[in-house]
Amino acid sequence: MKPIHLILAAIFTVLAFSSSANAYPPSKGGPSEMLSKKSDFEKLKPGDKVVIVCKASNSVTLVDIKDKNQAMQLCAEGKMIHCSDCKKDFKVVWGNPSGKTGVPSYKMSIVNAKGEPCMFMARLK
Ligand SMILES: [Zn+2]
Repeated sequence: MKPIHLILAAIFTVLAFSSSANAYPPSKGGPSEMLSKKSDFEKLKPGDKVVIVCKASNSVTLVDIKDKNQAMQLCAEGKMIHCSDCKKDFKVVWGNPSGKTGVPSYKMSIVNAKGEPCMFMARLK
């Protein structure tokens, strides 16, 4: 499954660049784009491809976006996402990592039972 490994490598590169700071510069058109804000999901269009990556098992699930409703369902608070490799369900939660109030910076995380982020989503370009 070489293509998946290439996709993974690209995604982890993006992750490495974006994990150090919340305010990283806008993407210059890399192979993928992290989906962490409501507006990211609202921008998804039919035909877009989203990958759900499990960091615990390095597994990737590809999702074909068919309509906007489906895109918004992907990030619904409390949604459980099953990882067949970990044999666990992870939960979609929204929080404000900056801790500041009055700032619309809510971000999605997908966490395990201990509340640790285990998965993330990205849009393939
Ligand atoms: Zn997993």
